[in-house]
Amino acid sequence: MNVNEEQNASIVEDITRTLRDNSIQHSEEDITQRVRELIDSYNVPVTEVKRTILRDMMGSVPSQSMQTIEKELSEIKGEERGLDVTVRIVTVNPKTVTVEGQQKEIFYGLVTDGELIIPYTAWDDFKLQKGDTVKLVNITTKVWQEKPQININRSSAIQKVEADIPMPETMAHREMDIGQLKANMSGLIVKGRILDAEPKIIEVKGEQRQIFEGVIADGTGKIRFTCWNGFDQTIEDVIRIDGCYTREFGGVPQLNFDQRTKVTYLGDSEVPTMDELQQDTAVRFSDLTEKGGALAIVATATIVEIRQGSGLVHRCPVCNRALKKDVCMLHGKQDGIPDLRLKAVLDDGTGTCGLIVARPGSEALLELTMEDCITLAKEKVDMDYPRQLMVDRLLGRSFRVHGDVTSDEYGLRMITNEVDPYDPDLAKEASAILKSMGVDA
Ligand SMILES: [Zn+2]
Repeated sequence: MNVNEEQNASIVEDITRTLRDNSIQHSEEDITQRVRELIDSYNVPVTEVKRTILRDMMGSVPSQSMQTIEKELSEIKGEERGLDVTVRIVTVNPKTVTVEGQQKEIFYGLVTDGELIIPYTAWDDFKLQKGDTVKLVNITTKVWQEKPQININRSSAIQKVEADIPMPETMAHREMDIGQLKANMSGLIVKGRILDAEPKIIEVKGEQRQIFEGVIADGTGKIRFTCWNGFDQTIEDVIRIDGCYTREFGGVPQLNFDQRTKVTYLGDSEVPTMDELQQDTAVRFSDLTEKGGALAIVATATIVEIRQGSGLVHRCPVCNRALKKDVCMLHGKQDGIPDLRLKAVLDDGTGTCGLIVARPGSEALLELTMEDCITLAKEKVDMDYPRQLMVDRLLGRSFRVHGDVTSDEYGLRMITNEVDPYDPDLAKEASAILKSMGVDA
């Protein structure tokens, strides 16, 4: 991307965000086209382009995007636009995110007015410095986990000001349920039961070092953890981890703790039993989208799309990639190894999740073996026939899926073989029968 394209992309992003925030249908392609036209053909100044397009599409430019209003942190509700606040920067952390396929560095941290401490995300490099006292001009806010949060956007500005705002001496750690954890949180207190823990030797700067990896759970969810120093706990222990933080690993939040973290033992009754915790956690996709994936979940959802690439595929014997017309994108023409898979989209009413089911699960769902599928495809002289069978038999039906959900810029994704047909009428019937027997279901 050259500078002009980068600049155009940023204008498009601002416009689509405003349109989205105002629930206005739009095509990003059209907007990209229009931005290019205005700048390249009509030489409209960059500052005017956004306003021109928004005026065209919305009738008027939202007044918030033109004038700002100053508020105190305590007045922020989490749905403001065009806001100014005067704060001291408590922390600044860089983070690389992928936006529409492009790597981008953003910054997140905390600001304070001397009393309240609020998280922020800066979507551009404003050269924020820890300890600076600044006026954040034309920011937006949103609510996250029932608390307001500040967004410093490209259209925001930072002004250094003279104001006497003290830095917090010690940052109070916040206690959170495991089910609420998302990547890149810090200063956390987490309580849970250790379901699994294994030592692992890694190399750090040429030196061997032992760390521990495992899974910890409470009644709200499970999370993988890495302990970077000595770990005296054993499986089943209930602990309180004060001062831990999260990172993202493989599209799922992961808990980390090290020598600065304080681990204490809690009574066994503070957290559900091993048996209870080993059950998969029921989730809604909308909640997972917010936090970015989760381990060992169960969801009930409908298959709303069977994707291309479902059915019989042939895999590269070298790298296992699916071949396209007997050609691997890395290894050229190959004699492919047949495989059967389902690529689908699940919808649970709150959101969607991509689903990939490997051969064993696909065979179970179709009630056909891969060999059956090959035979059928040959009989019909149609290699796409097994995919068509998936459409006929699975599309629009509900399933209960178990597994880990990961996330990336394309959304949620689950790769699992545990997909069981779910018939809501049967379930209702079963619960009615149980009720008639005096059992609460
Ligand atoms: Zn290959």
